[in-house]
Amino acid sequence: MADYDAIVIGAGLGGISTGALCAKNGFKTVILEQSDLIGGCCSTYERDGYKFDIGASIVEITQPMERVFELLGKRREDYIDLVPCDPIYSFITEDGRKFSYPTDIDETTKVIEQIAPEDVEGWKAFSDMGMEMIEKMMDAVMLSPLNSIPEALAMVAKNPRVVKYAPLFLRTHQAVVRKYYKNPVIQGSVAFQSYFAGAPPELGSGIFGFIALSEHLGIFYPKGGMISIPQGIINAASDFGLEVRTNTKVENIIVEGGKAVGVRLEDGTEMRSRFVVSNLNAKVTYLKLVRPENLPKWALKAISSYEVSMPCPMIYVGLDARPDLDAHHTVVTGSIDAMNDVWNNYYKKGVIPRTAMSLICWPTEADPSLAPEGHHVLNFLCNAPAPYAPLGDNWDRIKDWYREAALDELEKYVLPDVRDHITIMDVSTPLDFERRLLSPQGGIYGLFSDMTTLALFRPHARSRAIKNLYLTGSSTHLGGGVPTTLASGVITSSYILKDHG
Ligand SMILES: Cc1cc2nc3c(=O)[nH]c(=O)nc-3n(C[C@H](O)[C@H](O)[C@H](O)COP(=O)(O)OP(=O)(O)OC[C@H]3O[C@@H](n4cnc5c(N)ncnc54)[C@H](O)[C@@H]3O)c2cc1C
Repeated sequence: MADYDAIVIGAGLGGISTGALCAKNGFKTVILEQSDLIGGCCSTYERDGYKFDIGASIVEITQPMERVFELLGKRREDYIDLVPCDPIYSFITEDGRKFSYPTDIDETTKVIEQIAPEDVEGWKAFSDMGMEMIEKMMDAVMLSPLNSIPEALAMVAKNPRVVKYAPLFLRTHQAVVRKYYKNPVIQGSVAFQSYFAGAPPELGSGIFGFIALSEHLGIFYPKGGMISIPQGIINAASDFGLEVRTNTKVENIIVEGGKAVGVRLEDGTEMRSRFVVSNLNAKVTYLKLVRPENLPKWALKAISSYEVSMPCPMIYVGLDARPDLDAHHTVVTGSIDAMNDVWNNYYKKGVIPRTAMSLICWPTEADPSLAPEGHHVLNFLCNAPAPYAPLGDNWDRIKDWYREAALDELEKYVLPDVRDHITIMDVSTPLDFERRLLSPQGGIYGLFSDMTTLALFRPHARSRAIKNLYLTGSSTHLGGGVPTTLASGVITSSYILKDHG
């Protein structure tokens, strides 16, 4: 007799949205999370009165979140208070030039006109075509199951206009950017987002070239910190009996006769269920939890061939004064070539890059309650992506060096007197991140995503190797991101409903 219908391993956004929708569909559901916090990469911890977001710092493309609430039969605004952040970014170039992109498309045209009049036409063509594409592709690509060729064909039959945009999946991010823009500063301002999908502009899919445009639909910060998103979904699903247990690590998925029938916890307890959902990195799911001896040869070969995503050190800072910033996100940019160089000549060679490229997030601009009165919070990353095992060294030994190097960059390009105002500071190296979320090699987006590992080519939401096992989150279709992992919850729960409803 099963203890639950659904056991969900991991309380990241994919696990929580899948679990909430399972509970709504009448399945007795429990989510098991090894950490003391819910939310995984989209979470917020508190120290000395300051609240710091562990990873994600913003939500763009809110449709998947709205869809989760719609399917739960609840109003998102009753559970998550989203504050619009405008401008989208404030940019600083290596040579000290500053400019901002507002949300409004026409206002952005004026900014581009001042920096690069030659790119106004390209921007207009890009935004006209891109906005139409985003509208048409949203449901079709983001919220449709795409695990197999028949499913892809069914999606195209239902949305024939997506064929027009299919070549974008086959072009690179930088090819799309260079098609529309000539000026290196403008190119850099819409190319660095390839790293939001975990790849440099020369490897990222052209479809991610439109992240920069989707931001003009609005970017939002949830009041209370990023943890308010997973917490809001859990609260909305509590009426349906959703159970969430933190500090509960799953050691194995129990497989009997090729079927997932439950889990074994770290303390040896066994819990039985009709089906199991894993929100973990797919390599961990199959190689550690299911274990190779339970996998067919083809599945073992396939899962072993994936690379884990890049790691990214983060710094969290409390300040006793308002920082001299003018946007939720400040980005220090470089050229497309510099972005590729960081990947090829530093990250891939195991060297920590010394680069101006950095992203500074200022959450207390949107929600002052995240810090004591008059104080502020910054989360920032620079010298990234950085290797998991820097040449000849270990992150625990170089943590202090890294912190000072990162502060030097911050002072040089963004906040000259920041050291005078720091009241509290934490550094999360790739090793710390791995320990916190059990994410292999500190990878921040599950598996690496390039043009060859999207859609059908990513591990499937409904496992083909193990019956009654489902995957959700950043290792599945569309990869890492708040909207994409929420969308994975919609997709994975739709398979479950079809199979077990
Ligand atoms: C530094 C950083 C910045 C980011 N910035 C943004 C951003 O601004 N905007 C955006 O859209 N996206 C951003 N992202 C990406 C986004 O946050 C993630 O892709 C998304 O939150 C991942 O969700 P997930 O469902 O894959 O689960 P994860 O967040 O990976 O959660 C998996 C959960 O499983 C738990 N777990 C692991 N092993 C076990 C086990 N054995 N037993 C039980 N539980 C286990 C972990 O503790 C974790 O809570 C960022 C990510 C990072 C790391």
